[in-house]
Amino acid sequence: MRLMTHNMLQCHVKNCDANNFPLRLEEVEVEQIETEFNPDFLKNVIGKLEWEALVSTAVQLGITTLPAAVPADAAENEDFLQLLHTTLLETHVQQGKMVCPNCKHVYPIKDGIPNMLLAEHEI
Ligand SMILES: [Zn+2]
Repeated sequence: MRLMTHNMLQCHVKNCDANNFPLRLEEVEVEQIETEFNPDFLKNVIGKLEWEALVSTAVQLGITTLPAAVPADAAENEDFLQLLHTTLLETHVQQGKMVCPNCKHVYPIKDGIPNMLLAEHEI
């Protein structure tokens, strides 16, 4: 699971609709997998990201290089785009779990796939 995917996931347990994002990563195994740098894609994605959530999630994984706010010149800032590329698209959580900060529901991650399925009573 790329951090970009994680940035779009929130808890969807019934009645859990406040403080249910970002899901906290725990006991994770992370792998860096190289992928082609595509600045145009990244420029498009910047505005769609929950930036603070991405920064705090990256910190949970020991990545402390992201700036607290998106730079004003982000679209032309090659260093920033490279950093974003590495964090968002090349950092894969392969194993572990995601925990809802509100209801503490645990979503497992196995072989890079987050399992967002809920039991019937949780829907
Ligand atoms: Zn929840």
